[in-house]
Amino acid sequence: MSTLQKLAQFGQRHIAKGIGRSTELVIDKGKGAYVWTTEGKKYLDFTTGIGVTSTGHCHPHVVKAVQDQAASLTHGQCNIFYHKPMLDLIEKLQPKMPSKSLDTFFFWNSGSEAVEAAIKLARHATKKQNVIVFQGSYHGRTIGTMSLTTSKTIYGAGYGPLMSGVHVAPFPYCHQCAVHKSSPDTFNINNCCNDPIRQLELVFKQRSAPSDTAAVIIEPVQGEGGYVVPPKDFLPKLREICDKNNVLLIADEVQSGFGRTGKMFAVEHWDVTPDILVMAKGIASGYPLSGIVSRKELMDKQPAGSMGGTYGGNVVACAAAKATLEVFEDEKILENTNARSEQLFSALRSRVPKLLPKGASVDIRGLGLMIGIEFSGVPAGFASKIANEARDKHDLLVLTTSIYETLRLIPPLNVTKEETADALERIIKSIEGAVDQI
Ligand code: PMP
Repeated sequence: MSTLQKLAQFGQRHIAKGIGRSTELVIDKGKGAYVWTTEGKKYLDFTTGIGVTSTGHCHPHVVKAVQDQAASLTHGQCNIFYHKPMLDLIEKLQPKMPSKSLDTFFFWNSGSEAVEAAIKLARHATKKQNVIVFQGSYHGRTIGTMSLTTSKTIYGAGYGPLMSGVHVAPFPYCHQCAVHKSSPDTFNINNCCNDPIRQLELVFKQRSAPSDTAAVIIEPVQGEGGYVVPPKDFLPKLREICDKNNVLLIADEVQSGFGRTGKMFAVEHWDVTPDILVMAKGIASGYPLSGIVSRKELMDKQPAGSMGGTYGGNVVACAAAKATLEVFEDEKILENTNARSEQLFSALRSRVPKLLPKGASVDIRGLGLMIGIEFSGVPAGFASKIANEARDKHDLLVLTTSIYETLRLIPPLNVTKEETADALERIIKSIEGAVDQI
């Protein structure tokens, strides 16, 4: 048995099965867009911990900031002190917010904790209880955030009773829309996509009156639900409805934020300002940091001492986040994201449809480097087969998402033109390999 197999076996024995894992690889090194196993095998990593290693693995500028910080102060308990790395981070981060009104921050470690904090804030500030979520949503795996998650039954079934007061509205998933699918010729983006808005209004009339509803929470681009981009008018209309009903709008940008969609935050694509914005993942290039930002008058409604946690806004993680933002500026990360996005989209759209078996079709969608490839008319498990081919035969790591046959590409935002071209060839070969198995 190889060392790698032995380590994997040890992991299987001693790490909880409930974690779930898409590979049995044991890695111990990462650099840029690549990771290496303990046996030195190199993989091109288009998973990035689902967008966490935004500046690639071990970016030298981030590594240096972490090393320097770790040598001077590793913990600065926020309930006792202010610490300088957090203040420096806020100074750098605030001008990058979708609106100047989002000016008051606090930080935690994981996306789930930050979503929980956003719900706490919404409930406490409005003195209302209910929360409206969207079909296909993913907001985390704590009891509170599982209650808001509808993308798969495993995120909740058997863990009840979950948080009460959660109501679900449909998300505009154009590729799976009955009108769009049954009659693509008569597809009318306005008619079709008004429906989710009408349904949301019905939720307010039939299930959760505005007077009982604290907030609507949305992923501006759905992540675990399938990398679904809502149509043009949806978010602005949602903002309008929230304002009309005096309900807060929370944007969960844990996956879509920090440049992933080609803008700093995805809501900027529609020029929408949420009342509360939730961030995590790409913020600190791999160090555990999450946060919420809101207006001062809203944020300060919570009593002193009711927020925070022992490790929230850790100094080293804050230093990593500040260094990440410096890399964004120095290396023009957003420009690169958009250029690589165009490179991938144009090649995928011209080449992938030609590879499909008879009767199959593909929807290639997303924004920036948050790209979903959904196959229809293929056997169940087709997307996983592609991911397995990619890993086992072409040394490329990609993930699947959604309850449909969807592959997702989430490279580091500083992936090079050459690495992108290389990944593309590996993806094409992996799709060919999966088609051959049908
Ligand atoms: N919200 C969204 C949109 C996410 O994608 C995730 C993680 N996939 C979370 C919340 C939860 O974040 P974490 O895993 O850090 O708790």
